Amino acid sequence: MKQALVVDYKYCDGCNSCVVACRMEKGMAIDEWGIKLNEVGPEKVDGKWMWDFIPYLSKRCDLCADRVAEGKKPACVHHCLSSCMYLVPLDELGQKLDELGDEVEVLIP
Ligand code: SF4
Ligand code: SF4
Repeated sequence: MKQALVVDYKYCDGCNSCVVACRMEKGMAIDEWGIKLNEVGPEKVDGKWMWDFIPYLSKRCDLCADRVAEGKKPACVHHCLSSCMYLVPLDELGQKLDELGDEVEVLIP
């Protein structure tokens, strides 16, 4: 079943737990990564301060196929301190995006 990583980044606080959890799970060196954060801002837009952290994947991400096959969540999803990451089957993606609203990204490695 094809799946995607969905991040409700309006709740992402840039803690980097997903980055570290992925590196630990995959046994990567400090200069390797499966997921990283793109920092946007801070900037003032229409009188409001905006500061977003938007995760993105590298080619090293396999959506934690081994963990998922064992019935576990991907390491990044499991360790996300804001519980704002989800592994979603593609045929349920539309429903999940409707549920989460705006400022959501869909990541497919
Ligand atoms: S799904 Fe697994 S491999 Fe992909 S970024 Fe998350 S922890 Fe890393
Ligand atoms: S673990 Fe969650 S809250 Fe922390 S940086 Fe990653 S997506 Fe954002």
